[in-house]
Amino acid sequence: VAEQTAEKNDIERLDREYTLGTWSRQRDFDPTQIVDTDGPRIITADGDSILDFSSQYVCTSLGYDAERVCDAVNEQIRTVPYVNPGWATEPRARLSEKLAEITPGSLKRTFYSTSGTEANEVAFKIARAYTGNHKILSRYRSYHGATAASLSASGDPRRVAEGPDVQPEVPGMVKGPDPYAYGSSLDPDKSLEYIDEMLALEGGTVAGVLVEPLVGSNGVLTPPDDYLPRLKEIAHDHGALLICDEVMTGFGRTGEWFASTLFETEPDIITMAKGLTGSYQPLAATTVTEEIGKYFESNLLNQGHTFSGHPTACAAGLAAIETYEQDELIENAREMGQYLKSELESLAERHPSVGERRGIGLHQGLELTRSTEERVPFEERSDKVSSNTTVLDDVGAHALDNDVYFYTSVNTIVVTPPLTIGEDHVDEAVAALDEALDVSDDAMDS
Ligand code: PLP
Repeated sequence: VAEQTAEKNDIERLDREYTLGTWSRQRDFDPTQIVDTDGPRIITADGDSILDFSSQYVCTSLGYDAERVCDAVNEQIRTVPYVNPGWATEPRARLSEKLAEITPGSLKRTFYSTSGTEANEVAFKIARAYTGNHKILSRYRSYHGATAASLSASGDPRRVAEGPDVQPEVPGMVKGPDPYAYGSSLDPDKSLEYIDEMLALEGGTVAGVLVEPLVGSNGVLTPPDDYLPRLKEIAHDHGALLICDEVMTGFGRTGEWFASTLFETEPDIITMAKGLTGSYQPLAATTVTEEIGKYFESNLLNQGHTFSGHPTACAAGLAAIETYEQDELIENAREMGQYLKSELESLAERHPSVGERRGIGLHQGLELTRSTEERVPFEERSDKVSSNTTVLDDVGAHALDNDVYFYTSVNTIVVTPPLTIGEDHVDEAVAALDEALDVSDDAMDS
């Protein structure tokens, strides 16, 4: 045990000293070493077995023991580990065919990159080339990635965390209102009318309207049922494409392959990453309709990456999709989603600090409030980028002390377990959350 402890301390010390941590002042970067995994659990060097009810960044949707994916990666890495994107490989060809099958409607051709933010950047370039317009309209409560254009398209507080002069935003990014009633003074029924008017006022210069069909890290927000199909019509009326960012919602999280299907909408472009390989390999994709694909037969697609269509990553993607299918994980997400939803509803009834439960399938969230009269967040949006510890952080820390991990973001406890879970896992996580929510109940205004 002494030897193990020494090793753990050494690894954490090395990591702390030589790695620059993400999204943090480095004095706040204090990672705990993970040495093993088991089903939906991660194991720390101290031997704590933590039930992962967040799927890390809502990405390890297959849990941690997807044998088919491991085997496919092993086999591919020993045959053709890499060739540049100018060559054809079996995993890329078969994955592209499979994506055409599982994405809605006439979505057909795929461009590969390695992260969600790149998938969105690619979508912007494609939409611009195809429409001849240059602007992107997105919404304030959104996150689309950390590279220049994707972050500029995000409404997330991280977009402005360093101030406008330090990381200036990419020009041509327009932001419209969100369709959510809770905690907003904007009338959700009017939000589409506003977007329609904004597109008209932009005078036909918008190439793409970009949305997360179900908002993820900005609060697990569910739009009205007819929102997405109407948004598509409005976008098209103004010469813009509908781009659905399904980086978080794709691959069964909501109980359908894609959340667009839930809302009976065929986007012009879908972007995806995270669950595409269950995060066993970094891979992202931008899939476009047959018609957009055809446009690039004679027009230049001016985009490429060394790792575009990386064979090993594509092999992981193909095996991940087979795993979702053969293990019936999307059906499980639907079924467990119902159970989780009802358990979270009863938590919301018992705990006055839960303002609202939201979400579909295994994409659920609880927004906290410090007042029962009206919505008063414990965490302001700007707290997300500060060093301050908030009540929301305390709730997450309490659950973690009881060995259940939840991602917390923008006043919301994000409840997004792997799609492999059973009822016993839900019971375990809900029991930990039940106790943790006493912390926010106690911190409410009296
Ligand atoms: N889009 C959405 C909806 C996301 O949730 C994220 C990441 O959380 C991204 C894009 C960016 O993906 P990545 O971190 O792989 O660049």
